[in-house]
Amino acid sequence: MDLGWSATDLAFRDEVRAFLDEKLTPELRRAGRLMTSVYADHDASMEWQRILHERGWAAPAWPVAHGGCDWSLTQHYIFSRESTLAGAPSLSPMGIRMVAHAIIKFGTDEQKDFFLPRILTGEVFFCQGYSEPEAGSDLAALSMAARDDGDHLVCTGSKIWTTHAREANWMFALVRTTRNEKKQRGITFLLIDMSTPGIEIRPLVMTSGEEVQNQVFFDEVRVPKKNVIGQIDDGWTVAKYLLEFERGGGAVAAGLQVMAENIAEVAAGQPGPDGGRLLDDPAFARKLADARIRTEVLEILEYQVLAVVADGGNPGAKSSMLKVLGTELSQTITELAMEAAGPRGRVYQPHATFPGGPIAEFEPPHDGYVSGQPWQAVAPLRYFNDRAGSIYAGSNEIQRNILAKAALGL
Ligand SMILES: Cc1cc2nc3c(=O)[nH]c(=O)nc-3n(C[C@H](O)[C@H](O)[C@H](O)COP(=O)(O)OP(=O)(O)OC[C@H]3O[C@@H](n4cnc5c(N)ncnc54)[C@H](O)[C@@H]3O)c2cc1C
Repeated sequence: MDLGWSATDLAFRDEVRAFLDEKLTPELRRAGRLMTSVYADHDASMEWQRILHERGWAAPAWPVAHGGCDWSLTQHYIFSRESTLAGAPSLSPMGIRMVAHAIIKFGTDEQKDFFLPRILTGEVFFCQGYSEPEAGSDLAALSMAARDDGDHLVCTGSKIWTTHAREANWMFALVRTTRNEKKQRGITFLLIDMSTPGIEIRPLVMTSGEEVQNQVFFDEVRVPKKNVIGQIDDGWTVAKYLLEFERGGGAVAAGLQVMAENIAEVAAGQPGPDGGRLLDDPAFARKLADARIRTEVLEILEYQVLAVVADGGNPGAKSSMLKVLGTELSQTITELAMEAAGPRGRVYQPHATFPGGPIAEFEPPHDGYVSGQPWQAVAPLRYFNDRAGSIYAGSNEIQRNILAKAALGL
């Protein structure tokens, strides 16, 4: 296993750096800095997608025939890492990184021709309708009914925790088409136009005070059968395939390293308990050092997974390990961020993150994470949102179950 970068990789890294340097406007960098979760401000995210699409880099992991880049996994990792280090706003994963792969693998030519170009341009923006009030970790227990009615499936039920349901104009959903079988059978993977009559969206207020997730209600919503991906009753096959794209291939450690750097800078300007600098307080310094060491470990694991996959292997249970380590470390680091942010970090200031919305005293010259104050305003929101990291995308308990079986043979 070779964990070093080749000369070609380094040349690619320089090309990516030059592109980011040229194209990331101050507004886009600001949106990246003020991300209060894994999601950036919607408009900034869409603008960044447009710029990436112009360069042909919006969906690098797609097959070249559909607009992808034919990059090696190493190049994907470099691109992801450099984008994070440069402070680029994130793109929503639901369309480009998730449902598109299901459409490419299982979709009809008509579905590919309609959806793929529109996902690239952002004209079609997807949300994910999997979880239901009684079906989360046990996803196959889902019950939203889709009744057969000629050319249509008629959907009644509810989806919950749907991220960006209000921004999305399409949802990819798992619905129950048949009941009397093994629960994984009888599920259908369906694309639903969110403007169809009978859909109602109610935002969920998160502990951060933000309304990014939603509950979506369906009352006799008529969806053409031509929007089924794969076969009716065989949606579990599509859903399982998509799981491979929900995890892995990212560069989480890079973002955490940036946060740790910011924390150190802010802590250098904060008083500690003994009147000296917080950064020099032994208890704080030990926690920060521990978090930084774990971040280095996470990065090495990310490289290992990359090297395995680049050799044609499968990350297997390591992707569960990455998910657990990455989300728990992120929770530790946002706890430290709250400590470093000091009293200002205790104040709830969601308006500080909105474009044009920073309160007067947070305007330049105090702009940005590093100088402190907007960062301090973001810290509590990020802290609350990161509590959810160990729940979404398969809770960490479920990931530990996978590790217990696959890695420990329990
Ligand atoms: C911020 C956020 C965004 C989300 N976005 C989306 C989205 O866009 N689309 C979507 O479809 N869903 C989304 N989800 C839902 C997410 O996938 C579920 O919350 C998750 O799968 C857990 O399901 P649950 O909430 O029903 O908890 P439950 O499954 O009820 O679990 C409750 C607790 O029991 C534990 N548990 C359950 N089963 C086991 C077991 N077998 N062994 C050990 N422990 C177990 C869990 O780990 C958890 O701690 C989101 C969730 C959050 C918090």
